[in-house]
Amino acid sequence: MKHDPPARALCTDCGVSRSADPGACGRACQFIKPDYPRLEEAVHGRARADGDETFFGPFQAMYRARMARPKVGAQWTGITTSLAARLLEDNVVEAVLTVVSDAGDRWKPKPVVITDPMDMAKARGMRMGYAPLLALLDEVRARNMERIAVIGIPCQIYALRSLEAELGLEVLVIGTPCSDNTTTENFHKFLALLDKDPHTISYLEFRADYRVELRYDDGRTCTIPFLSLPISDLPSDFFPLTCRTCVDYTNALADITVGYMGGEGDQWLIVRNGRGARMLAAMGDEIILSEPGSKGKRMGAVKGFVANTERAAGGLPLRRMPDWVRPIVSFLQPRIGPRGLEFARARVEMKAAETILHLRRAMPAKVKNMVPDHVWKIAEPYDLTPKDDERR
Ligand SMILES: Cc1cc2nc3c(=O)[nH]c(=O)nc-3n(C[C@H](O)[C@H](O)[C@H](O)COP(=O)(O)OP(=O)(O)OC[C@H]3O[C@@H](n4cnc5c(N)ncnc54)[C@H](O)[C@@H]3O)c2cc1C
Ligand code: SF4
Ligand code: SF4
Repeated sequence: MKHDPPARALCTDCGVSRSADPGACGRACQFIKPDYPRLEEAVHGRARADGDETFFGPFQAMYRARMARPKVGAQWTGITTSLAARLLEDNVVEAVLTVVSDAGDRWKPKPVVITDPMDMAKARGMRMGYAPLLALLDEVRARNMERIAVIGIPCQIYALRSLEAELGLEVLVIGTPCSDNTTTENFHKFLALLDKDPHTISYLEFRADYRVELRYDDGRTCTIPFLSLPISDLPSDFFPLTCRTCVDYTNALADITVGYMGGEGDQWLIVRNGRGARMLAAMGDEIILSEPGSKGKRMGAVKGFVANTERAAGGLPLRRMPDWVRPIVSFLQPRIGPRGLEFARARVEMKAAETILHLRRAMPAKVKNMVPDHVWKIAEPYDLTPKDDERR
């Protein structure tokens, strides 16, 4: 990797700037003028339709899902890395581009080219931080590879799809949703607020039941309700502006998206096109599938979030409620709050509102080019509509 990340105000170091052609950032970057309709057409054969596709992007099918035998070390049950391992086993691809843990810091993502299906086990689990994954395309080219798979988060996949036609490669994409990423350094500060021995925490997840789950090296586990998290102790810029203004939560340009938001405790699959469907079919009965559920009503929760975000004026949206009310709300949230697909819609709406509010405040000149039409449509019920100078 030859180059430094570009000195752009909005950049998640996806790797393009470190590649042999750093100028490609201008054509590839999600943070300049993303064109989702064009790329959805190119990747899936059509742009997203109305209804749930407005929220989640084009799809053929959605499932609640889990591995019949969950994989040790996986973030959830290991569907993501198992799909990729199967592609290598069946010689559908020659290599998988993904991240493993840095040798000196398990939370720091390190990009790798994996060619042995057994090595996919090393990629299991979530790291927090940015990894220049796409710089590895230079290595793929140098090794004369022709068929690859990429596991990536939405800002990486947007850049990959923008450049795909120039690559001369067959590319399969397994995407994960992503929200609220931050630098690995910031994440260590968060862990230090959660436990006096933060280096013993081996796993963290923001679950769909409004709790954070922690696991420790000695096998202990615990969960903390979202409302009890020490958010007020974090600096207001804890989440970088990139992630607060990101316009693709669900990885709409992946062939298959593997997350958990709509899974009600299981995983959540969005099969977007024929390539994604073939990847899933190749797993046979190793993956257990069922219909995703949808319960509760999201509007009140999203309205409250939007009001808090506006009030925080760029800081972190803290809930205004007395301490004694927090345990009661924490008890009620997973029981009466939005669940399943309704929870996923709520999170997508919150992210759309955040994007608009943060960009308006911090970089108003970028609203016009950076906010796609579907994001305006998602935010419309919350009185967030484009002003004259914000329309494309
Ligand atoms: C920062 C971040 C935020 C996320 N937020 C959400 C969310 O809000 N809602 C949701 O449904 N899902 C989210 N996900 C995805 C979720 O955490 C799981 O990764 C996903 O459900 C797959 O689980 P699995 O057991 O199939 O993954 P595994 O089989 O364990 O594989 C995980 C894969 O993710 C890759 N990965 C891990 N960390 C990173 C990273 N920092 N950058 C790029 N790739 C990485 C690994 O290399 C591996 O290939 C997020 C992921 C990340 C990295
Ligand atoms: S394309 Fe990637 S490396 Fe280039 S500016 Fe955008 S996020 Fe940064
Ligand atoms: S939230 Fe968006 S910008 Fe931030 S790392 Fe995730 S996909 Fe990239």
